[in-house]
Amino acid sequence: MSDRILILGGTNEAAEIADRLTAAGHTVITSLAGRTQSPRLPAGKTRVGGFGGADKMAGWIARHDIDKVIDATHPFALQISSNAQIACTQAGILLEVYTRKPWQKHPLDDWIEVASLAEAATAIPTDARAFLALGSQHLEPFKTRDDVDFIVRMVDRPQNPPILPRHTLEIGSPSRDWHQERKLLQNHNITHVVCRNSGGSRSYAKIIAARALEIPVIIIKMPS
Ligand code: NAP
Repeated sequence: MSDRILILGGTNEAAEIADRLTAAGHTVITSLAGRTQSPRLPAGKTRVGGFGGADKMAGWIARHDIDKVIDATHPFALQISSNAQIACTQAGILLEVYTRKPWQKHPLDDWIEVASLAEAATAIPTDARAFLALGSQHLEPFKTRDDVDFIVRMVDRPQNPPILPRHTLEIGSPSRDWHQERKLLQNHNITHVVCRNSGGSRSYAKIIAARALEIPVIIIKMPS
């Protein structure tokens, strides 16, 4: 039987699920938050932008006659996942949640594990050259660190420069090739990588690169 499926996406895994279910003959609509300018568009239809909260998502689900929702969003995207639970309960339809496992520390990794962005900001030593691989909307906690040089990776060039006092922008997506990530860290003389434990394969190469260069990684634990 062919279902009408809403996938909450923005991840590689969500796109792969959309490709697979579309090929199997289902009607798939992938929802993207609209954070990046040129996201990978999966098979099927896409819609872009917030729903306006859980109630409005429930209304959208009813209007579009959706049979099932698949939440394949990023493990740190907590709000949309919570909204999806409420909306699916209200709409009386099934919610499938795709969960990633966090990366496990390799014996050669030098990880400083922290619970939040604020803790990560505090953990960076004075005079460090820190590579921030966090996303443009997560820089606020670092803005008081005028004793650190930040190299900030962003997928798209921002309209306004980042709020950090001492920074260099590195525009582009993470490479899947750890050699490329190593080159990037070396070119910027990075002393610390700051990132989240996102799990999955898409952005793991920087972890391997940091290991190879024996650079500490200040890593924010995945929410449970
Ligand atoms: P979030 O904090 O959980 O969501 C904030 C708000 O953005 C939601 O309440 C919702 O607005 C809207 N939203 C989020 N994801 C959406 C989606 N797939 N479709 C439609 N609206 C969405 O999420 P976030 O951390 O900003 O992440 C946004 C998106 O980027 C997610 O789809 C996630 O998979 C992807 N992503 C996030 C990260 C990350 O590090 N957080 C990394 C890679 C990809 P309304 O309440 O108005 O509906």
